[in-house]
Amino acid sequence: MSTLCFHNSLTRRKEPFVSRVPGEVGMYTCGPTVYNFAHIGNFRAYVFEDLLRRHLRFKGYRVRQVMNLTDVDDKTIRDSRAAGLPLADFTAIYKKAFFEDLKVLNIEPAEVYPAATDHIPEMIALIERLFAAGVAYRAGDGSVYFAVGEFPPYGALARLDRENMRAGDRVARDEYEKASYGDFALWKAWEESDGDVAWDSPWGRGRPGWHIECSAMSMKYLGESFDIHTGGIDNLFPHHENEIAQAEAATGKKFVSTWLHCAHLNVDGEKMSKSKGNFHTLRDILARGYAGREIRYLLLATHYRAGLNFSFAGLDAARTALRRLDESVRRFREAAGGAAAGELPDWAKEREAAFEAAMDDDLNISAALGEVFDTVRAGNAALDAGAPAETAAALADLFRRWDRDLGVLEPAGAEAALPPEVQQLADARAAARKAKDWAESDRLRGELAKAGYAVKDTPKGQVVSRA
Ligand code: AMP
Ligand code: ZN
Repeated sequence: MSTLCFHNSLTRRKEPFVSRVPGEVGMYTCGPTVYNFAHIGNFRAYVFEDLLRRHLRFKGYRVRQVMNLTDVDDKTIRDSRAAGLPLADFTAIYKKAFFEDLKVLNIEPAEVYPAATDHIPEMIALIERLFAAGVAYRAGDGSVYFAVGEFPPYGALARLDRENMRAGDRVARDEYEKASYGDFALWKAWEESDGDVAWDSPWGRGRPGWHIECSAMSMKYLGESFDIHTGGIDNLFPHHENEIAQAEAATGKKFVSTWLHCAHLNVDGEKMSKSKGNFHTLRDILARGYAGREIRYLLLATHYRAGLNFSFAGLDAARTALRRLDESVRRFREAAGGAAAGELPDWAKEREAAFEAAMDDDLNISAALGEVFDTVRAGNAALDAGAPAETAAALADLFRRWDRDLGVLEPAGAEAALPPEVQQLADARAAARKAKDWAESDRLRGELAKAGYAVKDTPKGQVVSRA
């Protein structure tokens, strides 16, 4: 049995993973700022976190994952005003879109999705603790800041050189948006441009800073110390450094044991981001005829700490890889007929153990997928050589087990992951059939065909797939 190891950004080392409570993992994931559709760079982070979560479950852990929704900040306020909508109505649009996108990418839901605007009292209470600890101060305009100089451990995660106020040599500086640090806002006093977005606090009307949101909500739902905190590498500094400072200055306890950060999705060597304008939303790519499953495969097939350059050629390669996989999995299933699974042949047992060992090694996906494709080859060869139905069934089951970890192998996954507008048509058609409204059902079949989808009615209900 291999040991589960993760690369911990805090120690910059690969370490065996030990949870605080045996069999249970508390995990916090920085979620989206809901002012627009998320781009696939963001989804690289969420797909990596999904793989992490699935592998922890695969290893038998009960996972409690918390992902925040940032529904108040400069951008949400700015764009809601530009749209002429109240902040809550504006962010509701993108919250809904985000959950639809998660489904398209077959990302398992987190256990809790706390929204910042629902947790202002918790944030105020945490800021009060920071005053009591002597690390918070009020500025002239009524804003409140964290005094970095009063918290000596500041900079441990990013390895800051405190003397020179810059990221230390051991950190690749271009991984971060900012490489300098200073006191940061815990509470921002109301300004004209905030419009009607403000809450009362002991320091006057205003709104919380972004960093305090994650410290307050993670501790509320996971306790003052918990196992895993994740995000993209751009979150490491200053966001995660500040989260640690706020939590540990208030509680005096270690905040998080293991930090995991994924590398960026790049375009021509530059981080994909809204501000650079070099981004594709998930919806843009679906509109070009790619499936959610193909995008998931592309984002997942490169190790999370390695750079990944986005290209449509890469997506086409993902499509080809999945086709090969699907052909084999279908073949195993067909060859199995209705047979019960027999024992796996020894060579396949070795592949299964090697797959788990690869995933245990800091989610070494390239090696794990290597085992999957070796099994495709060897499995086909075994069937060519006349392997019995029981062996084919055992191989089909092996792919099912693996897919609990990867969420991308099962051809059925592709059907579950229809684009939202197609899913809506499919749902409407299912409802029409239930109501025996055959004319409407036929009309919706036509709509689906126009969108490029075929419908088959089976005894288990309709199956919608790309035509
Ligand atoms: P944001 O909405 O900008 O706060 O980002 C949400 C999540 O996406 C964070 O975990 C970011 O680190 C991550 N992220 C943003 N851009 C990229 C990118 N190009 N590649 C990978 N992760 C990203
Ligand atoms: Zn965060």
